[in-house]
Amino acid sequence: MTRIDDLPIRDELRGKTPYGAPQLDVPVRLNTNENPYPLPEPLVERIAERVREAARGLNRYPDRDAVELRTQLAAYLTRTTGHRIGLAGVWAANGSNEVIQQLLQTFGGPGRTALGFEPSYSMHALISRGTGTGWISGPRTADFTIDVEAAKDEIAAHRPDVVFICSPNNPTGTAVDAQTVLALHDAAQAAKPSLVVVDEAYGEFSHRPSLLALIEGRPNLVVSRTMSKAFGAAGLRLGYLAADPAVVDAVQLVRLPYHLSSVTQATALAALEHTDTLLGYVEQLKAERDRLVTELRAIGCEVTDSDANFVQFGRFEDAHAAWQGLLDRGVLVRDNGVPGWLRVTAGTPAENDAFLDAVRELMKENG
Ligand code: PMP
Repeated sequence: MTRIDDLPIRDELRGKTPYGAPQLDVPVRLNTNENPYPLPEPLVERIAERVREAARGLNRYPDRDAVELRTQLAAYLTRTTGHRIGLAGVWAANGSNEVIQQLLQTFGGPGRTALGFEPSYSMHALISRGTGTGWISGPRTADFTIDVEAAKDEIAAHRPDVVFICSPNNPTGTAVDAQTVLALHDAAQAAKPSLVVVDEAYGEFSHRPSLLALIEGRPNLVVSRTMSKAFGAAGLRLGYLAADPAVVDAVQLVRLPYHLSSVTQATALAALEHTDTLLGYVEQLKAERDRLVTELRAIGCEVTDSDANFVQFGRFEDAHAAWQGLLDRGVLVRDNGVPGWLRVTAGTPAENDAFLDAVRELMKENG
């Protein structure tokens, strides 16, 4: 049997495993930070209508520049963050993973490096590798915040071409304040002109306002967002960025022509028409997230403050054994490989109750 490593693949891919959480069929699945609420029926109907319309034109390539969609995304950002942004400052792709890939293809690549503060979203490192960009793992403190002085030292020492700041951070839930982003942005520019990417995939769930306004007057600062979480549309694959229009122009150099299908654009536009309903679910999830934090602490767990739709909890002597213990009770959470800690996504109230019961049992069993 031919193995991957028998093929003439790139050296840096040898012996590596693909990204992916286990997709197991268990009653309570709280492992991939999805929104637990299916799209409301009127939105499903609207998607069907919009997609039917798009289907009539499927013999043609889609709008390569996704003008209507980017206009509506810009209107959404302006309305929800209070920062005025237009079509020219917004770009969309198939999930924010593709946005990040396009940014690394444009600003990273062979001979260049990207830096992130770990533990953080592991795809930042993996997409760096995939685009031939060197990866530098920057530090976090024991409570998973970013120590500004240590971070600035790291940036000065390595002079990266791209800096990732994930806020709220996956898997810890930690939000970053505007002063920290500005300090790191300035340190990065002082070391050498470089792109600072603020990954706000979970921005809508935060107790803090969006960092979007920071892009004003800072052409090397980008904010990336997604419809996978707050819009409850992980299956849609729609991510976007907001930045200086020059950044949007720059990613055109690497984007595949017609990368966003007409069906994707139609579906995303339908979802944006139902923004208010979907943001109502976000409010419910934020309340459930806060309840998980409170109840896990009452049970005796350590919990990292969370601004996302998930909660990092522990500390376990053997996090993987705890993960298995919860799975044995029908609850799937995520072991991100952070020693001692696991991550649970906020689900429906019933799912969260089932999860909390399972944790109580596990804690009792382990004394
Ligand atoms: N950024 C972060 C921090 C994430 O956690 C995720 C999804 N897990 C993404 C980006 C990518 O999301 P998508 O490609 O679905 O937009």
